Formats: sequence, C-alpha cells, structure tokens
Amino acid sequence: MRRDIVVVLVGLLVLCGVAGTRSAMAGQLYVKYYPSKATKHQREYAAQRTLEDALGLVNGIINPNSLSRDVEVAVEDCGQVNAFYSPTRKRITICYELLDFLLSTSQKIPGDSGERGRAFYQMAHFIVLHEVGHMFQDILKRGGLGNRESEADYFAAVVAISAGKEGAEMAANGSLLFMTWSKGQVIRFNDEHPPAASRAYDIMCLVYGSKPKEYSALGVQLGDARRRRCAAEYQPTFQAWKKHLQPVLVGGGSGRQ
Ligand SMILES: [Zn+2]
Repeated sequence: MRRDIVVVLVGLLVLCGVAGTRSAMAGQLYVKYYPSKATKHQREYAAQRTLEDALGLVNGIINPNSLSRDVEVAVEDCGQVNAFYSPTRKRITICYELLDFLLSTSQKIPGDSGERGRAFYQMAHFIVLHEVGHMFQDILKRGGLGNRESEADYFAAVVAISAGKEGAEMAANGSLLFMTWSKGQVIRFNDEHPPAASRAYDIMCLVYGSKPKEYSALGVQLGDARRRRCAAEYQPTFQAWKKHLQPVLVGGGSGRQ
C-alpha cells in the first residue's frame, strides 16, 4: 500500500465521531455554535454536532504543530446565506442562514428522510472543507495557478474523496448542492466564483475520475466528452494538493500518524 496522503486519510471518517471537539493540543480546528436569532434550529445543529465530522477529517490529517494556534469554525448569524474564511482573524464562519438553506435544499432531493438527512450533513461538510481550503491557501501562501475558488473546491473534493466511499459521497453531494444552486442563478462573469453549474461538474468529474468504474453513474451525468477527461483531471489535482499540503500533513504526508 502506498504510504501517501491516501493512507493517511483512509478510514478517518470512521474516526470522526471522536474528533472535532476542541483539543488540548494547539493547532486544531474546533467548532463553536453561537446563539442565534436567525434560526430555530440552533440547538439541534449544536446537539447533533452538525459540522464536527468535517473538522475531524481535517484534524486527523494535519500536524497540530503546523498551525500556530487553534482555528475556530464559528457558526453564527450573518444576515445572509454564506460561509467564509477570514485571513485577518484566522477564523472560518459558517452562517446559520447557510445551514438552514442546506437543510431546505436537502429536503427537496429524492430519497427517504435518512438519505436527505445524510445529504444535509454531507453538503455542510463539503462547504466546511471548501473554507478549510481557503485557510490552507492563506497559511501555506500557495496558489497563483488558477481561480482560488476552484482551488478550494478541489481541495475539498480531494480530501473528501481520499477518505473513501463515504467521502466520495460527500463530494458528490457537494456537487449536487452546486447543481441545485445553479437553478435560476444569475451568472455574473466578474464574480470570483465560477458559475455554480461549472463547479458542480468540476467536482463531479473529480469524484468520477478517482474511480470511474465505481462511480459510473456520475459519468452518465458528465456526458461522453467530459467523462473521458476526468481521470486525467483527478490525478494532477490530487498530486498538486498532496504537494501543497505536505508541510502540514501528519508525518509530512508519509502516512505516519
Ligand atoms: Zn470560497
């Protein structure tokens, strides 16, 4: 078995249930649910530890010494549907308005209540990973080779996919979220975010390209022309993020924990 980022990540979703809470060790991400006037679900979000699994995934792969201090993921009222990373405060914000939006979005997808609930969590986790991608762009001072929003999407997709089947499903639900978002979207070409449908297909392509046989259903949605390119899109994306993250990975990405 290769001793690389895949080895580090495999199985971490299983461990996520015990991770994600504030660690005594410096340099971990932790979540804090602030009181809210914007949602009636604040208590449920906190009680159900809505975002902790995503943080557990990240905390499981990074060397705590690589972050100078703990990083707060604040869940709070924003007055808008949004999530963002602040380079000045070194802090990630996930807006309650966004969680409510994800909850309502997940209720509209086909499936039973269990599948919809799962989709909600996975969409939220993908968004968290996207913001963590921005955090690493800031900390590692890397980038400059493309759109930073796409970079953050690719980070989220690669970390999720590397965690195995459940992670790939998380990325697929991230893609589904953007596809839903794209319905009726007014495209502004001067927006730093690519159109939501493009983001959806880019993420879908990475999931499919990681294991084309296993995720063949996604290949159908991608269409012949794009799906033929996806394996070639996934591999360099995986390698690029592996290289970028090497300074902060547990064991330098060697697989040692
Ligand atoms: Zn972003």
